Amino acid sequence: MIIAAGESYERNYRQGQQSISLIPVNDVSYPSGGYTPDHSGHQCGNACDLSIPRTDGSYGTTWQSNSYDRSATRAIIQALRAQSLVTRVFFNDPQLINEGLSQYVRGHDNHIHFEIGVPNIA
Ligand SMILES: [Zn+2]
Repeated sequence: MIIAAGESYERNYRQGQQSISLIPVNDVSYPSGGYTPDHSGHQCGNACDLSIPRTDGSYGTTWQSNSYDRSATRAIIQALRAQSLVTRVFFNDPQLINEGLSQYVRGHDNHIHFEIGVPNIA
C-alpha cells in the first residue's frame, strides 16, 4: 500500500523533481502487528507515520514552520487517500483539515499518521 501510494505521488505530483521530498516513512507497524516498544499506538499492524516534507526537498518539520511544504504534504495525503485500504489520516494543518484530507489529533503537528482497514479477501 505504501509503495502504491508512492507510485501515485510520483506519477501525479513529484515527477522526479529532486527539489520535492519523497514520501518520508518514519515509523511503521510490523506486518502482522505485535509489540512495538517505540510506538505503542502501532501494535495492530495497520498504522504508519510519515515525516513532514520541507520546501528544500528534505523532510522533518511541523505545519507551523516556514520550511513546511504544504503542497507536497497535500499531494502525499491525496496519494494515500487514493488507496482503497486507507481509513484514517491524522495531521493538524488546519488548511488540510478544512479540505477534508486529515483530522486533528493532539500530537500530530510534526507527522502524518495514517491507518489501513482490514483487506476484504473474498
Ligand atoms: Zn502514528
